[in-house]
Amino acid sequence: MIEFAEVYAPNGKSFSINSKKQKVVEINRRELDKQIAHQAQKNGAIIKVRTSFQELTNKGVRTSEGEVECKIFVDARGVSSLIHKDRTGILSSAQYEIYANWLKKGTVEIFFDQEKYPGFFAWVIPSDNGKGKIGVAGKGIGVTETIEKFLATRGDYSTIRKIYAPIWIKGPIKKFVDEKTVIVGDAAGQAKPTTAGGIYSSGMGGLYAGQAISKFLESKDPSDLEEYQKKWMEKFGSEFEKQLFVRKLLERFNNNTINKLFESITPEITKEISEKDDFDFHTGSIVKLLGIKGSIKTIQTIIGGEFKKFLS
Ligand SMILES: Cc1cc2nc3c(=O)[nH]c(=O)nc-3n(C[C@H](O)[C@H](O)[C@H](O)COP(=O)(O)OP(=O)(O)OC[C@H]3O[C@@H](n4cnc5c(N)ncnc54)[C@H](O)[C@@H]3O)c2cc1C
Repeated sequence: MIEFAEVYAPNGKSFSINSKKQKVVEINRRELDKQIAHQAQKNGAIIKVRTSFQELTNKGVRTSEGEVECKIFVDARGVSSLIHKDRTGILSSAQYEIYANWLKKGTVEIFFDQEKYPGFFAWVIPSDNGKGKIGVAGKGIGVTETIEKFLATRGDYSTIRKIYAPIWIKGPIKKFVDEKTVIVGDAAGQAKPTTAGGIYSSGMGGLYAGQAISKFLESKDPSDLEEYQKKWMEKFGSEFEKQLFVRKLLERFNNNTINKLFESITPEITKEISEKDDFDFHTGSIVKLLGIKGSIKTIQTIIGGEFKKFLS
């Protein structure tokens, strides 16, 4: 159970969000994948591991294990599907699972520093006392060197797992459905532009896509397939657009500006967010953090009238 989020500015100053009143669900990703696979198998899916998609054919797809005929191809290849489409929305990340006696259960830590983690941040997520995940991401950084430098500032640790993976921060792609190809999850840009978290929004993408495909297979009406994108955009479109704007804003800030913004965050603001909001970098909370006690002035000086759009 995560009870606090401690958010640090480049100069080391921090504010704390109490999340005791919020429902924080910790997901064991490998277990979740297995559960979903089991449900799919029980409903008739044939699962093939170590089989990779290679290309579309007239009748279906070519894979490393031969051709498969299909009426619809669902592209759920994650960020790897986007690498050839648009590299500008991709950041490198590294996440280590470690054992360390300085990890205390209950408090997530987030570190902003535009020089060390440009356009992103470093994170510490304890899963238990002495155990947790540490990560870094940023534009154009060497993630191995960055994460190891970060860890060196914290104390002794033992690494039990290392993940190096690209993350997508540019929001949804233009078309989720392209003739008989239906794109879902990270492959469709369905991860949050602020944190690249995509378990929920990508999962919902999969759900809406499945519903639309089953309707289409009965009706043969292409508009039934299009329903998928409409539904996803109705649920996530506006929040993701705002998050994209926040991202553009933060990308322009240097460490000095971030330090100044942190100075204007009062205990009243963090208390209000703790009590009312689901923090997790939703724009409602960010507006509160940025918008009170003069920081609007700071931001307006930096970017002028553009900020008004974000507040509306
Ligand atoms: C370090 C890190 C930490 C994260 N932490 C969080 C978090 O705490 N909360 C959260 O909500 N999100 C988090 N995310 C984001 C989250 O992992 C993704 O949004 C989510 O996994 C997207 O699911 P997906 O199924 O679309 O893609 P993926 O989980 O990337 O799955 C894509 C799958 O497609 C397979 N594949 C790729 N190419 C082919 C091919 N040619 N043929 C066949 N298969 C292929 C891959 O092997 C992979 O299994 C994190 C991401 C990273 C990198």
